[in-house]
Amino acid sequence: MESIADTVKSGRVLISDGAWGTFLQRKGLQPGECPEAWCLTHRQDVRAIAASYIAAGADMIETNSFGANRFKLDHFGLAGSVAEINYAAAAISREAAGDRRVIASVGPTGKLLMMGDVAEDELRAAFGEQAVALERGGADAICIETMSALDEAMAAIRAVKETTSLETICTFAFEKTKLDEYRTMMGVTPAEMAAALIAGGADVIGANCGCGFEAMVGIVREIRTVNKDIPVLIHANAGMPVVESGEIVYPWSPAAAASVVPELIAAGANIIGGCCGTTPEHIRALANAVQAFDRHSAAG
Ligand SMILES: [Zn+2]
Repeated sequence: MESIADTVKSGRVLISDGAWGTFLQRKGLQPGECPEAWCLTHRQDVRAIAASYIAAGADMIETNSFGANRFKLDHFGLAGSVAEINYAAAAISREAAGDRRVIASVGPTGKLLMMGDVAEDELRAAFGEQAVALERGGADAICIETMSALDEAMAAIRAVKETTSLETICTFAFEKTKLDEYRTMMGVTPAEMAAALIAGGADVIGANCGCGFEAMVGIVREIRTVNKDIPVLIHANAGMPVVESGEIVYPWSPAAAASVVPELIAAGANIIGGCCGTTPEHIRALANAVQAFDRHSAAG
């Protein structure tokens, strides 16, 4: 299959999938339960999530492997199951994806290099172990996501490139500061991220989670001040979560999310999908908005 980067460079805007974590909760994942263990214990539920995003029009889907690194799995006594869980995660999404792509999710380890929690080679070994199993399970690309520290992201990119032949996607989670800047929890700006990840050899870069679809426009614009050509992927939350009668609710409707698509494309986004709180209905609305944008552009 053609690489994601080549497809994007031919001018197509691609659709990615939506939330996994909040979807698993809707299917009954309990607080304190290991989401990734569901790849082994609730295979049909996990497959149904993947299939629902494909049915909604996603060109690529992620995997239920966000926290499936040895450090996070260790909290659940599953550090010895990294290979098994990641293989299953990729195989499940592969099964559901048909001729679409599988971009396998790799999240942060929760360990901070700058605090001396862990050494760089330990981080790389952990990411490599995860990436190898995801490739064996059938992933087309590795999507390193929700990153906030440059050093951890760079270790992950290096590990993926050393241990697999997969395309490497890397996205950071930004918040808006009181000074109206976008920064990660660790203080990294979109421009700093872009420069570092491109130098590190990432094939696709971008942003996920954070503060919603509208904020992503500013983030993409800032990335584009550094580089005009690198493919940019956006997985936006359905807004900032609010608590309504004891329940966490994500305020952005599918139509609201879709209304930002023309601006996102104009800013330079190439791949658009959702993060926390987005559903297959959001993805269907995004896909329709991209098609409408294409028709409009074709009509001049
Ligand atoms: Zn999110």
